[in-house]
Amino acid sequence: MSSRISGPGLGSRSARRAAAVTPLLLAVLLSGCSSGGSGGTKASSAPSPRTESTATATAPASPDAAAYRRWGIDKPLAAPPAPPSAKLTDGLKPGAAPKVIRRVPTSDKVVFLTFDDGAEKDPEFVKMTKDLKLPFTMFLTDDIARAGTGYGYFEQLRGEGNRNSINNHTLSHPNLRTLSADAQRREICGQQDVLEKRYGGKPPLFRPPYGNYNDATLAAAGGCGVKALLLWEATMQINDMRYAQGDQLRPGDIVLAHFRGPSELKGTTMTKMVANMLRSIERQGFTVARLEDYV
Ligand SMILES: [Zn+2]
Repeated sequence: MSSRISGPGLGSRSARRAAAVTPLLLAVLLSGCSSGGSGGTKASSAPSPRTESTATATAPASPDAAAYRRWGIDKPLAAPPAPPSAKLTDGLKPGAAPKVIRRVPTSDKVVFLTFDDGAEKDPEFVKMTKDLKLPFTMFLTDDIARAGTGYGYFEQLRGEGNRNSINNHTLSHPNLRTLSADAQRREICGQQDVLEKRYGGKPPLFRPPYGNYNDATLAAAGGCGVKALLLWEATMQINDMRYAQGDQLRPGDIVLAHFRGPSELKGTTMTKMVANMLRSIERQGFTVARLEDYV
């Protein structure tokens, strides 16, 4: 439940940078999954082993430096602190309404990355996330994810030890608040079934499209195995982030991003957008942790 400050987090060096200005350049509104500023983020099962054979012997603290440089990031993200000993959903009874999580309570200087919908299936993003051992959480909508090369793409993104989980974002991306309880159940539990057949195991996390939900959503989701409904307060745009509150990241922020390509990103690729996001996170003195270790 409680957050813990533990482990070798970010040093004071990065803390000092937290106050650095983060200009909201080109906060281009991208419609789609997100509606408005807030709504409802994630690293590896253990503090990521930051090992990279290409590291130089003179920089043992930055073993991934070469990999990061390949993707246009000057300095590796700091290793995340040890995860908390208890998770937010510990002790939740089967069938109970899921916890609604907008931001993870922690004082660790960590944020969590989430990618929604599943439209863009850029092979370069697979290479990037493998190279960087990047932790993130996926929320897939069936009719968007199955288009093109389909669900197989996302399997490649799960990473070592299935570090990155694949979770539920409904069958067809409706505004759930406009639907009856039965229709909501079909949208949510239908996608639970699709993902369970495809990847094994019911996804524990659910994100309602546009961040819109009501009591019927919680009842439906809890009834088909969802433990937490994940919202967000920070949204990645093309070049930088938008925040529901204030003008910078806060500990435990869940960052919403999307599987998007050049046609939606004004020519920018998914990997460039993610590099922009990682640079912004780092500039603000944060690192990326694995959402599933906290939730
Ligand atoms: Zn969406």
